[in-house]
Amino acid sequence: MTVLVTGGTEYIGSHMVHTLLDRGRKVVVLDYLSTGVRANVAQDASFVLGSVGDTALMKRVLAEHAVETVIHFSGSVIVPESVENPILYYSNNTFASLHLVNAFIHSGVKKFIFSSTAAVYGITERNPVSEKDETNPINPYGRSKLMTEWLLDDAAHAHDFRFVALRYFNVAGADPKGRTGQSTPRATHLIKRACQAALGRVPQLEIFGTDFPTRDGTGIRDYIHVSDLAEVHALALEYLGDGGESQILNCGYGRGFSVREVIDVVSKVSQRPLPTREAPRRAGDPPVIVADCSRVTSEFGWQPRHNHLEEIVSTAYAWERRLNAA
Ligand code: UDP
Repeated sequence: MTVLVTGGTEYIGSHMVHTLLDRGRKVVVLDYLSTGVRANVAQDASFVLGSVGDTALMKRVLAEHAVETVIHFSGSVIVPESVENPILYYSNNTFASLHLVNAFIHSGVKKFIFSSTAAVYGITERNPVSEKDETNPINPYGRSKLMTEWLLDDAAHAHDFRFVALRYFNVAGADPKGRTGQSTPRATHLIKRACQAALGRVPQLEIFGTDFPTRDGTGIRDYIHVSDLAEVHALALEYLGDGGESQILNCGYGRGFSVREVIDVVSKVSQRPLPTREAPRRAGDPPVIVADCSRVTSEFGWQPRHNHLEEIVSTAYAWERRLNAA
């Protein structure tokens, strides 16, 4: 009954491992520690150092640990980096997933959960965007993930496995119990950077684009708490275990906040003014993206528990302070 979590030392993966162990699951983490932190892996999980691209290793791990389900988090997630280095993104996201899918098909694993992204939609005609809306990614990150969705769809028709692909909107916050959080010092994501700016870890927060066609000119995103997202995966695991069909589902809360609104909440939570600087738009950034999350709610009976921006920011800020003190 073991669950294999690839990328389990990383931000979302490490939360997932805690959620699975909290639910009494057996977990093995596979990670090559490119940006992850070994110390963030819960003690009760087994750990294998290696890459999902290593087919021989994958087959051995799947057999030795009697893995029933794979949850695949490892990959690269930074939109502007994907524009500068698309080969890295197709390699780490699409190509690595191809190897992983091939390995688990041949090992007889029948359930797979995949980290996809809202970036598969690109610039949407309407918001909130639903799973039925057109996918038209505008950056290599989104394309590399959409190609993997296609690969899964085709492979699940030809082979005996089912999958749930979850399209994450903007994941933020940290474990409310303080066990893990976003640890990479090079993080580029807004809430993490804003917390770092509040603590003086970076000199200022750049606001990328103030001329978007939005209510205050800055980009609007649907921020979802990482623990709520981990919960969706746990529900997906139960769903597949109960024989559910393959699904692709949005994961967000259905409401958007602008960059300036996020900055206000970070200032309020940290009780510090945030040093900011207006900067040009970043390559590959759409103006608005907000999830229609009605299907994940109806399919899984998901009930978010941390869906307040202030809670997302408070937990992220608490984790950042902890890193600061270390
Ligand atoms: N953003 C910003 N300053 C930063 C990081 C991000 O203004 O230091 C903006 C970014 O342009 C986007 C939003 O915040 O409008 C969310 O960006 P993030 O990198 O967190 O996630 P993405 O939506 O790119 O996956």
